[in-house]
Amino acid sequence: MTDKNQNELNDPMVKYTETPQQAGELFRLAVAFLAKHKLAIHPVNYGLAYHYVAGSDAALNGRMDELLIPGEWSDRVAFKLFRQYISHCDEAMLRDLREELLNIVAHTLGTMIDLTGKTSVTNQHIEKQINTLAESTKVESVMKAVSSILAETHSLVMDTSKFEAQLISSTEEMEKLKEELDYARQEARRDPLTGILNRRGFDQSLETMIAEAEEQHLATFSLMLMDIDLFKEINDTHGHLLGDKLLQGVANLLTHHTKGKDACARFGGDEFAILLPETGVDNAKNLAESLRIIIQKIVLKRPNQGAVIGGITVSVGVSAYRLGESSEDFIQRCDKALYRSKALGRNRVTIAG
Ligand code: GH3
Ligand code: MG
Repeated sequence: MTDKNQNELNDPMVKYTETPQQAGELFRLAVAFLAKHKLAIHPVNYGLAYHYVAGSDAALNGRMDELLIPGEWSDRVAFKLFRQYISHCDEAMLRDLREELLNIVAHTLGTMIDLTGKTSVTNQHIEKQINTLAESTKVESVMKAVSSILAETHSLVMDTSKFEAQLISSTEEMEKLKEELDYARQEARRDPLTGILNRRGFDQSLETMIAEAEEQHLATFSLMLMDIDLFKEINDTHGHLLGDKLLQGVANLLTHHTKGKDACARFGGDEFAILLPETGVDNAKNLAESLRIIIQKIVLKRPNQGAVIGGITVSVGVSAYRLGESSEDFIQRCDKALYRSKALGRNRVTIAG
């Protein structure tokens, strides 16, 4: 056996080959281990915990598993285990242990203090203990400083867990609030009777389309305004409830026969509006014509009895957006076209001038 090998066998610190990062991780695990088993924080328990989490000695871990039950563990048991499994605790080991601890403590505490936001009080206290650790040469004072740092770190670990729990709970709370806000925002844009956009939702969609068109200096969208002919008579003759069902039916048809990008809205009363992106006035008119024919085919039946009441028709106005035009002027042009359809005898489509 060479001198070097002989020295290595005699030197207890040969066991500690971890990098400062690995040792820092073991330090955190050891403190968590002490907290989990509610063990008093003193160097002997810490030493055992450190070896346990490092898994460096299966026999030690086995013994600790047997003894780590309520009523079994005591300082006497801990000292016995320490002597039996890690007993090379001489002055040389303490010197190296002190240096190792200094590295680990500096590395670990930085992160934890940042996390908890726990400020100068803890900081200063630990700093004082670190200085003591760095300066002391006596076994007792090294042990005392280590104990103190461990106790302080233990409280920091607890604070960190509390802080993490608070953070998780506020994040969840924020997610929930965001979902509720999104839902409320969607609801504020929806017509409760038909489920399609209401006037507010329509106005928002229109403003967005106008802003995009103006930004790109390209007007490519159209508007369709549709009003049910003589709807008042249906209400008066067959009741409001049937009138409501009819409004829902028309809304369903409009949604069903338009593309996903098109925005169908109940403009008010028995009037509907459809915003048609990337659609010129001719295509808008064609779509309006086909919708008019589809709606004309609706057969109204009396609820329960199924007796046929008759059909309905709609009048429509269509307009294409012109660059520079305000939303009010754009809607008004389309509205005029719609009333021209009414004036010309209803059940027809008119393109805005
Ligand atoms: P026109 O062809 O000129 O449009 O004749 P009209 O009878 O349809 O006249 P108008 O559009 O002015 O009438 C709209 C009617 O729609 C009046 C109102 O009582 C009815 N109405 C408005 N909102 C609702 C609703 O939510 N449910 C029901 N059932 N009726 C509604
Ligand atoms: Mg009407």
